[in-house]
Amino acid sequence: MFGHTRASWCRGLAGATEMDGMAFRPWVPKRVLATPAALGWAAGAAMVERAAGLGAEVVRLAADRLSGLPDAYRDAKTTMAVVVASPSRRRLQAIPPSADWRFDLAEGCPAHCQYCYLAGSLAGPPIIRAYANLPEILGELPGAVGLGRVTSGSVARGGEGTTFECSCYTDPLAIEHLTGSLAASIAYFGEWDAPVQLRFTTKFDAVEPLLGLAHRGRTRVRFSVNARGAERLEGGAPRMGARLAALRRVAMAGYPVGLTVAPILRLADWEGEYERLFREVAEALDGVAADLTCELITHRFTPKSKGVLAGWYPGSPLEMDETTRVRKTTKFGSVKFVFPREEMVGMRRALEGALGRWLPGARVLYWT
Ligand code: SF4
Repeated sequence: MFGHTRASWCRGLAGATEMDGMAFRPWVPKRVLATPAALGWAAGAAMVERAAGLGAEVVRLAADRLSGLPDAYRDAKTTMAVVVASPSRRRLQAIPPSADWRFDLAEGCPAHCQYCYLAGSLAGPPIIRAYANLPEILGELPGAVGLGRVTSGSVARGGEGTTFECSCYTDPLAIEHLTGSLAASIAYFGEWDAPVQLRFTTKFDAVEPLLGLAHRGRTRVRFSVNARGAERLEGGAPRMGARLAALRRVAMAGYPVGLTVAPILRLADWEGEYERLFREVAEALDGVAADLTCELITHRFTPKSKGVLAGWYPGSPLEMDETTRVRKTTKFGSVKFVFPREEMVGMRRALEGALGRWLPGARVLYWT
């Protein structure tokens, strides 16, 4: 069923991502698993139809429980399941420091970032689960207006209203050509007459379907960007130049925009590399009156994420050496490894300094 070789998979990846200016091919799953409940939703049926139209093999399951999931990384990463988000999956979660609340349009991502944070948060093979019952998912949001602890009622960020983040467990733009869920959510927030904001982060650049939407400034589109030295860790995602060009297009369409600089890495000449990044963002936004925020997130890993990533990307050059890190225990009792405090202070000073030089109008939301 999953007969392609690793070599052919790698060739396809390289062909799609080689250069900044090259059009990035939208991801197409090899196989789509659809549950009966998901097919009962118009959006679910439409997702399956779009995927089939692009050449995916469609398997209509007899029961709502997912079965026959591939274990191998490369097979899982080319499988999309169209399912219904259960009530427990629809329950809103607090998501500091980004936003008041998290909700999910999907789980999983087709890209191959060797530091992927999903390795530590999602269980099981890394297939993509796209949710068909968007009306039920969005129906959970109104009850949370005014109740968050990050932006709701905050002096510094209160102007953002109650914030809802939809890219914690997926890159929603990476699969938007199959799901349509992001555009529907942006339109929903555009029509919503309340102090609310939708937020998402993406590494993808297919923003055209979003440009004409009646977003009414209620969606902040952030691009996940990094130093050029990090690009070799980001297989299956558009190059940095393509992301910056997309940033310009959404800013010109009136969206509030943002940079998610993550993960900040100890690259050779990291200081010069991040200086270059902010200079390139300034060039990309030249002449555009953008409402720009910046989120700065240093690299960290957990014993679990390190183990999962080592299995997914054997031989990766990503540094995950516990002996050069500080071990921290979170309030939930889990362990993570972060940069030592002195190094953190130096990196923060350097990055915020470069940001101030090149993008003085950008508002830093947090450093972590
Ligand atoms: S784009 Fe984000 S979610 Fe997707 S693989 Fe990369 S880090 Fe993971």
